[in-house]
Amino acid sequence: MNTRAICPFQPQNKADYLDLLRETVTWPGVREVQLNDEGMLDLYFQVGCYCDYCRGQFELLTGSPPPEALIDPDDQLWWRWMEFRMDSWTALHTELRAELKKLRPDVQVGIQHSVKWAGFAENPWRGGISLARDAQTLDMLATNPYPFRNFNVMPYRPHRRILTEGSRALAGVCLDTHFNMLPQAYMPSIKTTPMGRQDGLLAGLIPFAMGADTVTPYNYELMKIIPGFTEGFVDTLRLQPYFESGKPYFFSTAIQPHQSEVRGHPESKWGNSCLTQFSDVMFHTGMGWRWFWDQRLEDAADQLHGPLVMPDVHCLTEQQLDAVQQVARRGEGVLWIRQHAPRTLVWARRLSTTEPVRAG
Ligand SMILES: [Zn+2]
Repeated sequence: MNTRAICPFQPQNKADYLDLLRETVTWPGVREVQLNDEGMLDLYFQVGCYCDYCRGQFELLTGSPPPEALIDPDDQLWWRWMEFRMDSWTALHTELRAELKKLRPDVQVGIQHSVKWAGFAENPWRGGISLARDAQTLDMLATNPYPFRNFNVMPYRPHRRILTEGSRALAGVCLDTHFNMLPQAYMPSIKTTPMGRQDGLLAGLIPFAMGADTVTPYNYELMKIIPGFTEGFVDTLRLQPYFESGKPYFFSTAIQPHQSEVRGHPESKWGNSCLTQFSDVMFHTGMGWRWFWDQRLEDAADQLHGPLVMPDVHCLTEQQLDAVQQVARRGEGVLWIRQHAPRTLVWARRLSTTEPVRAG
């Protein structure tokens, strides 16, 4: 597929996109604009946009057209292509936000991601999405487990755990960025498990307990025909003053090794097969814990507290490593679980020269 009419990076498409957004943001009562992630550009197993414009932009940057191979970790150009895609997404959303802020500075502009990325269903490079960069540059992030408790693509069992684990993951990357959760509030097909009052209670409790700022049931009208759901959800509103006055309790913090997954295991769904096992272990201990994205160790190090667990984290920058060492120096405890031998040379080859790295 050489052209893609909806490529959001092409100037004319971006201008059309902005026209619609400018019109929308000025509607009375709009408080948030959540851009969609449909353009994760992973279509028919071809990852990234290969339209003439995008190919030209990449060639301007590197002197070479983008690699055609879906994945080729031994090719430095493939890594440049992966980084280019992530940079392009962040730049686009940052630009859209800036334009909308000119019209409505009071409106929060962010993105609603598939819970695939917060739920460790796929290796993040495939989507060209960096949740941490989004959290650093946008006003808010949202994620939507609403369709996913019906599909095996999500690794958690029972399926409804995706509400908890998706919330936990997004909270771990947002930190101080506004975080909106959209729990499933409809029964779409015969594939869904029956829902009821318990699900309404969970929808109103779990995201706030994990650190969400707002909860938006998906979808409000359809939830009213699920017996007991709306009643359960509305009952939880009485607890909102308590959620507003406190912070989620976390006994321990686990570093989410995004970089280790992308750089060290690009050929597999490592997060799906390994990190979810770690979540399962914590789930069975019953211990209160949270994620903390490795990419936030630099700009949000002041929010990092032990005890700290490092589940096979093996790709950190020097500055990120310093943040971990600060926790150890304060005597708060660091437990580093390592299953993979250090592969410093591999990391060094795969990272750009401006991003020093040390293996765990
Ligand atoms: Zn394109």
